[in-house]
Amino acid sequence: AGHDVSVIGLGNMGAAIANCLMRAGAKVTVWNRTSSKTEEVVGQGAIPASSTSACIAASPITIICLLSNAVAQRVLSDVADLSTRTIVNLTNGSPGQVRQVAALLQGHKGARYLHGAIMVPPMLLGQPTSMTLVSGSSDAFHACTPVLSALGAPRHVGEDIARAPLLDNALLSLMGGMFEGWVQALAIAQRGGVDGVDFAMGLAGPFVKAAADWLPRIAEHVRDEKYKGGSPLTMQLEALDNIAATGEELGVRVLLGSLRDVMERAVRQGKGEESIAGLVPLLTREKE
Ligand code: NDP
Repeated sequence: AGHDVSVIGLGNMGAAIANCLMRAGAKVTVWNRTSSKTEEVVGQGAIPASSTSACIAASPITIICLLSNAVAQRVLSDVADLSTRTIVNLTNGSPGQVRQVAALLQGHKGARYLHGAIMVPPMLLGQPTSMTLVSGSSDAFHACTPVLSALGAPRHVGEDIARAPLLDNALLSLMGGMFEGWVQALAIAQRGGVDGVDFAMGLAGPFVKAAADWLPRIAEHVRDEKYKGGSPLTMQLEALDNIAATGEELGVRVLLGSLRDVMERAVRQGKGEESIAGLVPLLTREKE
């Protein structure tokens, strides 16, 4: 209790942040573009600020959670004096976007900037296991730990401001792939007359839990450049085509197209004997 915190952006996540902070006993000042959302959070005990500048001036620490970092940049550019303020930006973005926002604080004496990535949906915010990745100076992180702990378990992942967004996007990439596979799996189950919830509880859940054991092994193979020895890509390409065949038989639109593309390219390049680990250097080489 006793911390003063400001929150800019009261969308689904920002409103949840403000509520967690109030529950932890903080005095919370808020600003949102659309005033109806401000009024709602004020009804729950927050103090309204008349502008973004007033909001940032009201507390030593301001949490920002907006649609995009382009919006965050615009909001911060409008504030004349950020000196001695600590800004904790929890808006999802790329490492480059985040560096641009961080640059806005340079030249404001004593201003500090942390970037964070919330790894849970709003309804799970504030639980002891709710993870937030945070990068930026260790000193600033320690100063903000009491405030960030109201949101769950903050994890400092490095002094480089771009570290949290990098890790965030790597994890979201895994989630995206999982969602692509999961909506397709549910469509196949549904079309095949299998109850999706039973399928999730009995088979998919244990399957995903087991995957947690083999993910590090693939990472080791990539680190050691040991691409042969696992299940060969020629076989895996066949299996992907069988998912497509199943989809066609059942009338389910088939996803996983870009994975198939890169696998096929690998096989064409003579990497058919390599395992899934062999696709990683193919992806990183493509950028050069
Ligand atoms: P919402 O769409 O609910 O909220 C977006 C917020 O941005 C609103 O406060 C909106 O204001 C504001 N905004 C949009 N455009 C402008 C603008 N031009 N000027 C000023 N304010 C603007 O999104 P969320 O709250 O769900 O997400 C916010 C961030 O949190 C995102 O980066 C998201 O990736 C991240 N996040 C969200 C999770 C989730 O499950 N929701 C999970 C983890 C992270 P207004 O009310 O006026 O429209």
